[in-house]
Amino acid sequence: MWIRYGSVTDVTMDQIVSLCRRRGFVFPSSEIYGGLSSTYDYGHYGVLMKNEIRQAWLRAMVQERDDIVALDSAVILNPAVWEASGHVAGFTDPLVDCRTCKLRFRADKLEDSQCGKRPSKKPGEDAQCDLTEARQFNLMFQTQVGALEGASSTAFLRPETAQGIFINFKNVLQLARRKPPFGIAQTGKSFRNEITPGNFLFRVREFEQMEMEFFVPPADAPKWHEYWIEQRLDWHLGLGLRREMVRVRPHEAEELSHYSSATSDIEYLYPIGWQELEGVANRGDYDLTQHTKSSGTKLEFVGQDGERYVPYVIEPAVSIERIFVALLCDAYHEEVVGERERTVLRLSPRVAPVKAAVLPLISKDTGMATHARNLFEELRKRFSVEHDDSGQIGRRYRRQDEIGTPWAFTIDEQTLEDETVTVRDRDSLAQERIPISGVASWLSAALEQPWSPPAAA
Ligand code: ATP
Repeated sequence: MWIRYGSVTDVTMDQIVSLCRRRGFVFPSSEIYGGLSSTYDYGHYGVLMKNEIRQAWLRAMVQERDDIVALDSAVILNPAVWEASGHVAGFTDPLVDCRTCKLRFRADKLEDSQCGKRPSKKPGEDAQCDLTEARQFNLMFQTQVGALEGASSTAFLRPETAQGIFINFKNVLQLARRKPPFGIAQTGKSFRNEITPGNFLFRVREFEQMEMEFFVPPADAPKWHEYWIEQRLDWHLGLGLRREMVRVRPHEAEELSHYSSATSDIEYLYPIGWQELEGVANRGDYDLTQHTKSSGTKLEFVGQDGERYVPYVIEPAVSIERIFVALLCDAYHEEVVGERERTVLRLSPRVAPVKAAVLPLISKDTGMATHARNLFEELRKRFSVEHDDSGQIGRRYRRQDEIGTPWAFTIDEQTLEDETVTVRDRDSLAQERIPISGVASWLSAALEQPWSPPAAA
């Protein structure tokens, strides 16, 4: 039997950071040079898990739908795009400097920040704090295109993938032969020079966005907005997040971005509190109208009967990073099994970086070793699996538990007699025997099963 330590929400960001480091999910970037603040590199399991998240998104947003197509636009666009979109003038956060500790803070997030001299206090709380008036700080990273420096060569790293979609609206409308309602989806890196990055991957300067712009007749926009909030919420729950850890919060009027007429955040209860996991915005006709004005190219829908309008846009936008952290926080448990402690990631099999481990009970036994290797070679053609023959079996199980591997197939003495293996379940710890010849189809069927997080003991 196992017992849980603590309640559902008391996992700390430090526990997640430490697991990610220990098991090679995520490393601080440029570590041998002292790192670069809030910048991370992904190791093997991190890459595998990010791939699963991206694939799950693309499956739900493109593969399984008739009305959405994919796009992969450039990171560096013509700078006129960012003038037209309003990002040059308005993609800013309010910044304050502290003249005492020389740190900079987001004026609207002082509650979440720590004073440089007295970390137990908020900036401005201590008598020594000397904050400047807030000024607007543009979050876009600038760069130069080509060899010549100067205003004409200044360009930006994209702060969102959405604009790459809007500027391709006409191409897709014509060539993919679509008409509203239809959507364009893309995943890719975005860059924001955040004033106060932090909380591990939650707020970083370089992150992978997954955005879909859904073009609809203007009158239908409120209906589609509701539809996409629901779809996206269901998608997150389908990845295994516990229902009580996720909520939808409509924005107050003063929170809305410059382009948005309504936005709802899907929030997750991170260790730092309820925070935005994904935003679902009604961007109206703002972007297509702006690009029409600035480029001179009409971005509108013209029907066969002469009907003509600028579609409204509903946009679900999320980063892999915020999903990655939410999934890890949701899945992380420390338990005592028998007399032993174990750390286990109860990840949904769909997003687990490794789906199954193949373990010969005694690695020196050539019969067991051969069976294990053959099974591993068969499974790896179709699934992300691991073969591990080093150390005691209990330790090998715990290594797999810690990276969230849902099942382990163990080859033992009985395998040599009757060609069966044991399947160990990560969550229930139940073991059953199945024929070695049926393992691949067993695993395939198990991965198809709907999954929900096991109830806490
Ligand atoms: P916040 O208010 O937290 O700064 P935002 O409202 O500016 O976020 P959006 O512009 O709506 O964020 O971006 C869409 C999505 O991209 C967010 O819901 C989030 O999942 C992700 N995202 C935005 N900024 C970051 C970041 N700095 N690091 C990681 N993910 C991010």
